[in-house]
Amino acid sequence: MKKKINRKKFLKSAAILGMGAGFLSSCSNKDTSSDIAAPSLITTKKYKWKMVTTWPPNFPVVGTGAVKYSEWVNEMTNGQVEIKVYGGGTLVPALEVFDAVTSGASEMGSGASYYWAGKNPSLQFFTTVPFGMNAQQMNSWLYAGGGMELWRELYAKYNLVPFAGGNTGVQMAGWFNKEINTLEDFKGLKMRIPGLGGKVLQEVGGTPVLSAGSEIYTNLERGVIDATEWIGPYHDYLMGFHDIAKYYYSPGWHETGSNLEIIINKRLYDGLPKSIQSILEAAAYRLNAWALAEFEAKNNEYLQKIIKESDVEIRQLNSEVLEGLFQVREKIINDLVNKDADSKRVYASYSKFQKDITDWSKFSEGLYHKVMTSRS
Ligand code: CA
Repeated sequence: MKKKINRKKFLKSAAILGMGAGFLSSCSNKDTSSDIAAPSLITTKKYKWKMVTTWPPNFPVVGTGAVKYSEWVNEMTNGQVEIKVYGGGTLVPALEVFDAVTSGASEMGSGASYYWAGKNPSLQFFTTVPFGMNAQQMNSWLYAGGGMELWRELYAKYNLVPFAGGNTGVQMAGWFNKEINTLEDFKGLKMRIPGLGGKVLQEVGGTPVLSAGSEIYTNLERGVIDATEWIGPYHDYLMGFHDIAKYYYSPGWHETGSNLEIIINKRLYDGLPKSIQSILEAAAYRLNAWALAEFEAKNNEYLQKIIKESDVEIRQLNSEVLEGLFQVREKIINDLVNKDADSKRVYASYSKFQKDITDWSKFSEGLYHKVMTSRS
């Protein structure tokens, strides 16, 4: 019996040795002695890493997704890499995740690049911008349209390696207590809406307010704010907005498919064996697919709950309002790219890809979508 276990163990470690040796021999063919010696270092070294996140602990999909990522990496490395996930504020404040990973205080992080717009405004394009690409288009740009190369290049300046780590899909425009029929209706409206979307609101006469997630419900209930956006039906339902708002508007023109991120300290990542680098990347692909599927399935389920369980009116912003917001967005993005060289370069790639893929979408997704939604 004992022999059997030892043989199993040996075969397992031999398999891992094989992977490591393959990698090493490909970069140093001449020195065969190191091919034999070095792999044992790879197999014995355990990595106990931290992942700080911008999400409240166990926040649905994004927070729980970070924990899943850590479990997948642990499984795939056969226990060699252990990642302890910290909810926002438990090890470092949520908005210090970027700095903590840059410095190596935490080896990894989970968040969204638009939180770091203050460091470099071009980083917003790697999450979402108003009237930006949807999730499918964003993934195509990142994985097959040059987006990821740009993202990696920009993050390298901050000693970071980024991976796409989930997408919210198109969000909802938000919760209102008055009708929005023209751009005029935004005048004087105090709305919780972050980022460039907030700038658009400001330009049409509203007041963007930044409230932490935990304060939004009370602020809306007490009239400190008149309206709020959050994410989509699933997370919005959990916040209880359907109990205190009259109208739930779509579509989320300001967040059309927010791409989330896993970030790794670049110096530490570069020092990893190729096999572990590859696992960290593969797990991010898995997270990216899992999170979008989870968002879509849950939003679908919870939209029905909101319809059945509340008196909220679900409405669409009309085309005049959307066109007006779009024109303001054009001005704001043009101002941004004219002021900032990185934004100019990223937007050149982003906007060309978006324009081309929108043309293609007219014939593929768009047309098909029209056929099917007209039947429902
Ligand atoms: Ca949002």
